[in-house]
Amino acid sequence: MTAKSAAAAAGATAYGYPRQGPNRELKRAIEGYWKGRATAAELRRTAAELRRSTWRQLAEAGLTEVPTGDFSYYDHVLDTTVMVGAIPARHRAAVEKDALDGYFAMARGTQDVAPLEMTKWFDTNYHYLVPELGPDTEFTAETAKQVGELKEALALGLAARPVLVGPVTYLLLAKPAPGAPADFQPLTLLDRLLPVYAEVLADLRAAGAEWIQLDEPALVQDRTPAELNAAARAYRDLGSLTDRPKLLLASYFDRLGEALPVLAKAPVDGLALDFTGPAAANLDDLAAVGGLPGKRLVAGVVDGRNIWINDLGKSLSTLATLLGLAGRVDVAPSCSLLHVPLDADAEREIEPQIARWLAFARQKTAETVTLARGLAQGTDRIAAELAANRADLASRAGSPITRNPAVRARAAAVTATDARRSLPYAERTVAQRAHLNLPPLPTTTIGSFPQTGELRTARADLTAGRIDRETYERRIEEEIRDVISFQEQTGIDVLVHGEPERNDMVQYFAEQLTGYLATRHGWVQSYGTRYVRPPVLAGDISRPEPMTVRWTTYAQSLTSKPVKGMLTGPVTMLAWSFVRDDQPLAETARQVALALRDEVNDLEAAGTSVIQVDEPALRETLPLRAEDHPAYLAWATEAFRLTTGGVRPDTQIHTHMCYAEFGDIVQAIDDLDADVISLEAARSHMQVARELAAHGYPREAGPGVYDIHSPRVPSTEEAAELLRTGLKAIPAERLWVNPDCGLKTRGWPEVRASLQNLVAAAREVRSAP
Ligand code: GLN
Ligand code: ZN
Repeated sequence: MTAKSAAAAAGATAYGYPRQGPNRELKRAIEGYWKGRATAAELRRTAAELRRSTWRQLAEAGLTEVPTGDFSYYDHVLDTTVMVGAIPARHRAAVEKDALDGYFAMARGTQDVAPLEMTKWFDTNYHYLVPELGPDTEFTAETAKQVGELKEALALGLAARPVLVGPVTYLLLAKPAPGAPADFQPLTLLDRLLPVYAEVLADLRAAGAEWIQLDEPALVQDRTPAELNAAARAYRDLGSLTDRPKLLLASYFDRLGEALPVLAKAPVDGLALDFTGPAAANLDDLAAVGGLPGKRLVAGVVDGRNIWINDLGKSLSTLATLLGLAGRVDVAPSCSLLHVPLDADAEREIEPQIARWLAFARQKTAETVTLARGLAQGTDRIAAELAANRADLASRAGSPITRNPAVRARAAAVTATDARRSLPYAERTVAQRAHLNLPPLPTTTIGSFPQTGELRTARADLTAGRIDRETYERRIEEEIRDVISFQEQTGIDVLVHGEPERNDMVQYFAEQLTGYLATRHGWVQSYGTRYVRPPVLAGDISRPEPMTVRWTTYAQSLTSKPVKGMLTGPVTMLAWSFVRDDQPLAETARQVALALRDEVNDLEAAGTSVIQVDEPALRETLPLRAEDHPAYLAWATEAFRLTTGGVRPDTQIHTHMCYAEFGDIVQAIDDLDADVISLEAARSHMQVARELAAHGYPREAGPGVYDIHSPRVPSTEEAAELLRTGLKAIPAERLWVNPDCGLKTRGWPEVRASLQNLVAAAREVRSAP
């Protein structure tokens, strides 16, 4: 096929769309079913209506092929587990009794049975349910969902393409089932899994599928030669099947690197590749292997996981290059649009001029269609769209929001000294000991206390105008008084104010920083029926006035014990927001760090001697490729040090992280140069204390002794036992006593009892280590 006819054929497609519906109807329907307020039939009907209305919208917007099977009641990886019959033994009875209830049992657990583990879907903020596979796992094809949804779309008269998680990615995302050897590699099950995929393909073809998409994003991560061979074998096998639809092999989230030649050589009918951000390298790599002569290329040129408008002119030039490299080129967002909110037009409270810079799922679909039209019919046919796009891009680039000279000058003037405490830890600790006068094994908490229904109601009342700000603030002060007096009575050494004024640890700060945008309807699925509204880092960041000082000083006025100031760190502020795409992350991080540095310094000036800067996202933001880790860790740790580097030696800086997989970032933790770090450790029996000790971590640490993910109250003996385990790795003068994480999701009765036991355990171990 010539380049010209490839262009004439150009279509527009997508790999997936937000599932929730315009008013989060799906969340409501599922939660209603859980609570017994709706029947399974009602839930199915709502879901089917949402799917139909999404497909119709996509087709009306101009997609020439709509995706099917991306819909899910909870998670598409769990759907894949069901599709290949890999139901864990402990859930089989429930699934046999009732498929839907069994499905939700795998997702959420029941009174008696633990759910599947949940973890992040690559480097997005979506969480999937981890398949559990062992040497005994037998796969069977269960194609009802995929076939049913395809038929629904075909019944609307639409061209539809089922989108499935590919077999290699499915196995690479799995973990050994309970009871399987810990070093069991699920990928060894590939030969058993492929026949099941073959059956799925046959069933979908019989149901009318012309094309099927198999997603293999795991191939953008570092892969061993054996893993790449497995991928080559998988697609050689599936490609050589006779009874199959055409196969489109997809990848996204980063460049394919050494996996690209493997996929390009596979006997499949097309590839869907990401050409945005770091994945833009796929363009040269594809040219280097000679392209995909005679095959279909779906070009992901619209960033599917961020919320900014596309540079249409730039995308068109990428597409023009790609035309020469494949038999047919279609246009698509780079990945499923699951990761962005539904519709930027719903954001009526954002200034219209700024709203024009935003593209959510609906706008990205329109961009995709425009690009396909430009490619197929020539750019004159989309002249109006191109002109409007150029104007919007220019307005963004030239806006004082995007470029604040004062912020830029300050960031440019940062020196290495700014990002360093004035004295090394060995000298700081002497000053801090004299200043704080704490006992050995000091007790503290991670920051939040239970967010009660009354607190949430008060916040909703304030937003709705039912109470005034003064009434609301009095309510918050009351809560702080209760939290402080409880901690004093319990005998905790370093107190917190409890964070009652915070809706969310990122949003609370985003709302007070200039340059950040909040959305009203910008919901994105985090997992299951949990949706979050990430704020948008839209412009240069500055802090017009103190954000937390009022509450911390109020709390401090109630007690003579030290009250810890509590902030969210710069890396976490970036990780849980939509970030700018017009400057390196390092630059945005530096601006946020400088704004937070002002807050840290103001807290110190107001008399706060202990300040905690939380960085739970430091580990999860690690890039997908190891070669990109050093650059990331360099700017991330610098941002933290810049936030905290301006305080006196006798002011104690704490940090907190959640997850306990620290092996790969223990050096980075060290590089933060925080005086004290608290970490999750209760479930892993202080594993992280041993890891820190093995690394030679020189400063203070509080591995958690109270598992806050469970309502269970740890006994004094149990907490004391964990402390003694901790003491084997970290000496008493550097060991802190605290829970695993914040207490905001827990109830007061269990928190009271648990913290009393925690203090009792610390006292016991102090007197009898
Ligand atoms: N200070 C926060 C809290 O206690 C930390 C939460 C977190 O690490 N996710 O809620
Ligand atoms: Zn935590």
